[in-house]
Amino acid sequence: MSETDIDNLWKSIKGELEIIVNPLQFRTHIPNLNLKKIDSENNIVEFTSPSDFQRNLVEEKLYGYLKNVIDKKLGNQYRLMFTVEKKEPTKLKLNELGPLFTHEQESRSSLRNATKAAGLNDRYTFDRFIVGNHNRLAYAVLTAIADDPGKVYNPMFLYSGVGLGKTHLVQAVGHKILEKNPNIKVKYTTGEQFLNEVVDSLRAGRSGRNSINELKKIYRNLDVLIIDDIHAIAGKETTQEEFFHTFNALYMAGKQIILTSDRAPHQIKTLEERLSSRFASGMIADMQMPDIETKMAILKERNEELKLGAPDEVISNIASIYDTNIRELEAKLLQIATVAKSQGINLTTDLSNQLLGQIEKQKQARITPQVIMREVAKYYGTTVKNIKGERRTKTLVIPRQVIMYLLRDTLNMGYQSIGELLGGRDHTTIMHGVEKTLDGLTNNNQLNKELDQIKNNIKTSCL
Ligand code: ADP
Ligand code: MG
Repeated sequence: MSETDIDNLWKSIKGELEIIVNPLQFRTHIPNLNLKKIDSENNIVEFTSPSDFQRNLVEEKLYGYLKNVIDKKLGNQYRLMFTVEKKEPTKLKLNELGPLFTHEQESRSSLRNATKAAGLNDRYTFDRFIVGNHNRLAYAVLTAIADDPGKVYNPMFLYSGVGLGKTHLVQAVGHKILEKNPNIKVKYTTGEQFLNEVVDSLRAGRSGRNSINELKKIYRNLDVLIIDDIHAIAGKETTQEEFFHTFNALYMAGKQIILTSDRAPHQIKTLEERLSSRFASGMIADMQMPDIETKMAILKERNEELKLGAPDEVISNIASIYDTNIRELEAKLLQIATVAKSQGINLTTDLSNQLLGQIEKQKQARITPQVIMREVAKYYGTTVKNIKGERRTKTLVIPRQVIMYLLRDTLNMGYQSIGELLGGRDHTTIMHGVEKTLDGLTNNNQLNKELDQIKNNIKTSCL
C-alpha cells in the first residue's frame, strides 16, 4: 500500500472512530496516533504513538474500537501493534528552508510571542492534561470554549480546592485559542495581579505606570479574559468596582470570560452580590480529587515529561497514599526521584517508602502557628492582624475560632499559649472558641468543607 493509500485509509478510520468513540477519548488519544504500516501477509497493522504512556492508554482503551473498524475496512482479521516513536524536535537549518518553512517558522514565532504576551506558561496545554471522572465536565466545557470562544458558555466559572488543575486547564484554553489564531487577544492573569494593577494605576501619576484609563483600555480590548483565583478581589471595593465594569463591557461585546476560584461564586465571602450573581450567570463546573487510576496517569505523564525514571510500583504507591491534591502528589514524586538521582540509587518501593516517611516528618515540622494563622486569614479574606485584634464581627469571629481549633488540633498547643498568640486572650475564651468550631463541625456541613480546604491549603503551602 502506498503512503497516500495509508494516509487515506487512516483518515477514513478516524472518521468512523469519531462517531463511535466517546468524544473526549477521541480528542485525547486519536490525534497523537499514527497509522504506520499495514502488513497484509502477516495480518498486522502497526501504529506509532509519541510516548509509552499514550501508547498504553490507547491499547487499553481503544484497541477494540480500532480493531473492529480496521477488520471491517480491510475485510480480514488483523492484529494491532503499537510502537513508540518519540517526536524529535525538528532542527531547522535556516538557509535550507524553502518559502513554506519560512512561513511555518514565522507562524511558530508569532504563536510564541502571542502566548508570552497573553501571560501563558508553556507547560499548561491540553496535551499534557489527563482527563478523569473528577474533571470530565470541566474539560468538556473548556475544550468547547477553546473551539468557539465567546459563543458557547459565557462566563465560565471553574472552582476547586488548591492543586487540582484549575490553572492548568484554563491556561490550556488560552494556548488552544492562540494556536488556531495568534491574533486573537487573549490575556491570562490572576485576581491578585488584577488587584495590584488597579492599585498601581491609582498611584500612576507618581509611579509612571498605567493609569486607570489605560488599564481599562487594555482589558476592554480583549477577546478572551482569563482570571485565575478571582476570589482575591473579594472585599477590595475599588478593584471590584473596576472589575464589574470590565466584566460588563466584555460580556456585552460577546467576549469570552473565564474565571476560577477555590469555591463557588456565592460562597466567596465579602464578594459583592452583583459580582457573584454575574459569575454564576453562565456555566459553572467544579473539580474534585481524582480517583486512583487518574492520579497514576497524571504521575506517569509527569514521570515521562521530567524523565524521572520512577517505576510503576512507586507511582502507584504515591498515588494510593496521598489524597489531598495533585500538586502534592507531583511534589512527592519529584522529591523522592531527586533524592534517588542525587545519590545514584535505584528508586525502589522500599526506598520510596523510607523517603516519604522522612519527607512527612519534615513537613510536619514546617507547619507552624504562623502558617496556620496566615492560611486561615487568607481563606477568609482578612488579615492576621485583624484576627488578633478586638473586633467581634462575624467575618472575624469565625476565622478566629477556626485558628483556635487548628492550633489545638494540629499542633496540640495549650489554651494559654493560644490565647497569648491571639493578642492576649483569656484561656476560657480559647476553650469556648475550640468548642464552637467542634460544634460547627458536627452540625454544619459548610464549615466541614471549609476546614478541609484550609487544611489542604496549609499542607500545600508547606510542601
Ligand atoms: P490549581 O490551579 O487548581 O491550584 P494547578 O493547575 O496548578 O492547580 O495544578 C497543580 C499541578 O497538577 C500542576 O503541575 C498541573 O500541571 C498538575 N495537574 C493538575 N491536574 C492535572 C491533570 N488532569 N493532568 C495533568 N496534570 C495535572
Ligand atoms: Mg491555580
